[in-house]
Amino acid sequence: MRAAFFLGPGKMEVRDVEIPRVEDGEILIKVAACAICGTDVRIFQHGHSHVVPPQITGHEIAGEIVEVGKGVEGYRVGDKVVVITVISCGRCSYCRKGLQNLCPEQKYIGYDYPGGFAEYMKMPRKGVEHGNLLVLPADADLLEASLVEPLSCVVNGQSYLNIGLGETVLVIGAGPIGCMHVAMARNHGAGKIFLADISEERLQLAQRIGADLYINSAQENLKEVVLRATDGLGVNVAIVAASSGSAQEQALELLAPQGRMSLFGGLPKDKPTITFNSNIVHYKEIGVFGVFASHASQYEEAAKLIYTQRVKAKDLITHVLPLEKVVEGIDLVKTGKALKAVVSMEK
Ligand SMILES: [Zn+2]
Ligand SMILES: [Zn+2]
Repeated sequence: MRAAFFLGPGKMEVRDVEIPRVEDGEILIKVAACAICGTDVRIFQHGHSHVVPPQITGHEIAGEIVEVGKGVEGYRVGDKVVVITVISCGRCSYCRKGLQNLCPEQKYIGYDYPGGFAEYMKMPRKGVEHGNLLVLPADADLLEASLVEPLSCVVNGQSYLNIGLGETVLVIGAGPIGCMHVAMARNHGAGKIFLADISEERLQLAQRIGADLYINSAQENLKEVVLRATDGLGVNVAIVAASSGSAQEQALELLAPQGRMSLFGGLPKDKPTITFNSNIVHYKEIGVFGVFASHASQYEEAAKLIYTQRVKAKDLITHVLPLEKVVEGIDLVKTGKALKAVVSMEK
């Protein structure tokens, strides 16, 4: 099979290797599509503590089961599936609550285990036992399904925000995650939704998602625009879907009383500190929420949102590339020329 191996920062190579051999309790998946995540870009540029090269990365995976090992129950050859990335311990109190993403003993497909930038991948036994494959309806579109993982993270992020009917929402960061936040806020019944970014190119691509107001915060004063559009009150919810400390600081200042804020994007490891006016949080009764990855039930919700077209995955996918062009795809994501770029094994 062909597989793209990450060999170290800036180095990736498509190689011909044996199809993984399925042992007892394991499952072999024929990958149909693997979307490129911002994290794949960061791994490609800098490496990652969970990725030991040479490794096959890629974790936004949809495919079909082609072989099941001895003793596997509940999965069949021919099932269309989405891979659930986090394989957790299954025993800790977070796992018992179904919060696999908060388990202290996580391992990830596409990091610790070989991922989806390959024609085939194996779900390890522990993942099979923990239900790390979400079975889709037989008519599911697997290209669209590759967006279930990122959308599940957006579902998790908004689960903390309690977006109410008619509330105003500001999303900072018009990449694919920001666009999914716009679509999800709409599903929650938000009123006006503002989408801000410093890149005009990204804002242009994001037109298709139908925010109410697009703000180029490199050219316009974000605070002024938001206050003008909200009768001086600020927004009820602000979501920072960008790796920017200054965007986080700014978002806090744009919230109305009882506003909620999501720090959706992580900050660079060497610069994780921001200046935070805690009096705003105090006097305005602001809620500030972090979010990391997602848990299995949110994959299920995300899948339903996609195949009922409540979130239109096709609108978010701007580029479909063959495996040989994975580095090109990573570059398209990095430079913001793509909204969602997906590697398709059928290309
Ligand atoms: Zn991802
Ligand atoms: Zn656990």
